[in-house]
Amino acid sequence: MTNSKLKLGRYSVGVGDRFAHQAKAQLQACVKALQEGAEVVPVWNKSNREHTIIGSEPVSTRLAADAAVKALHWELPYYLDADHITLETVGRFLAPCDFFTIDVADSIGHPAPAAEIESFVGRHPELVGSIELAGADEPFAITRETLRGTACKFLAAVKKAGEVYRNVESAKGAGNFISEVSMDETDRAQSPVELLIILAAIADEGIPVETIAPKFSGRFNKGVDYAGHGSQFEREMGLDVAAIAYAVKQYGLPADLKLSIHSGSDKFSIYPAIYRTMQRTGAGAHLKTAGTTWLEELIGLAEAGGEGLALAKEVYAEALAHREELCAPYANVIDIDPRKLPSAETVRGWSSAQYTSALRHVERDPGYNPSVRQLLHVGFKIAAKMGPRYLSLLEANEAVIARNVTENLFDRHIAPVFLGR
Ligand SMILES: [Zn+2]
Repeated sequence: MTNSKLKLGRYSVGVGDRFAHQAKAQLQACVKALQEGAEVVPVWNKSNREHTIIGSEPVSTRLAADAAVKALHWELPYYLDADHITLETVGRFLAPCDFFTIDVADSIGHPAPAAEIESFVGRHPELVGSIELAGADEPFAITRETLRGTACKFLAAVKKAGEVYRNVESAKGAGNFISEVSMDETDRAQSPVELLIILAAIADEGIPVETIAPKFSGRFNKGVDYAGHGSQFEREMGLDVAAIAYAVKQYGLPADLKLSIHSGSDKFSIYPAIYRTMQRTGAGAHLKTAGTTWLEELIGLAEAGGEGLALAKEVYAEALAHREELCAPYANVIDIDPRKLPSAETVRGWSSAQYTSALRHVERDPGYNPSVRQLLHVGFKIAAKMGPRYLSLLEANEAVIARNVTENLFDRHIAPVFLGR
């Protein structure tokens, strides 16, 4: 397979910029990381779903990122991620993007033809038995039945990824883009053993995968902290890293292959575990965040007071009124307790400080309200509908919003994951 000519590097961060107004403030967080000794490559990600809800085109992300890179004289790589694309949706991302997150979660569990499964099992006798992996404290024990069962569950998905990969390759040319395979948007976590078998299948398909996004144990709800056992996550991540290192050697996958953690943003309680695992193993990671920046726009507007605060309250009132419709597409990644949502009337009476402390993700703040945060997280459609009225307030309050965006991305995400503090 042709490895990518492009380099993602050991550390990278996926940032979402729903309204394409914060690229500079986001890049500023990477500039700060560089000043403090960590090269963290920015990747602007926006899914087809987000573009559709907002009514934007992928080229707008490209223009915003290029302008930010120019303004801040950023000389390291940066990428544009066609996030969670499929064969059906990839088209409009081909020209502006150079990073493709190939989402094949929907094909998991649909068995490939029996002959293909048998041929995969026959091709991989090395996967049967006890496999010693460097850095893992116990061997992977895989029976022929486990191998066949796993192939049954994932082979069709990997074949699908191969189809999408070849589609992108024929448009952009081999080596001119970064490939990620994502399996995170599904019900069940993939075990490290499953990950190893999946990687063998990815290598068979000839996909020069640079990042792989499994679903980890625990819940990764949008914009709020991890729900699950941190120690289990750390163990699982360590074994995943060992499986990746093994697969790189065994199957000739790109040497830089690393985990992509589709965090849903703000997984503060496991960030130290991610840092420790990378330090211990020498592995890198791609930390994908998304809606956390849109919430900083609201926080900045609320902090600005006046018209900004009024609009932030209006977004809440509208989001509350359309809660079910807004939450439906995100049902498996949010956990809102409707009883914890204040009425629109109550919020109308809030000061700037009350609004920002309900929304800003600071767990020790008694005013912090994760239900409000998650509702507003999915409420970007309301702001999208406001159109120029929302965008002109973003522009009028650029300084206060940018400060919040940079501080959130650097202090709460980049520093704990890549700098260990
Ligand atoms: Zn994802």
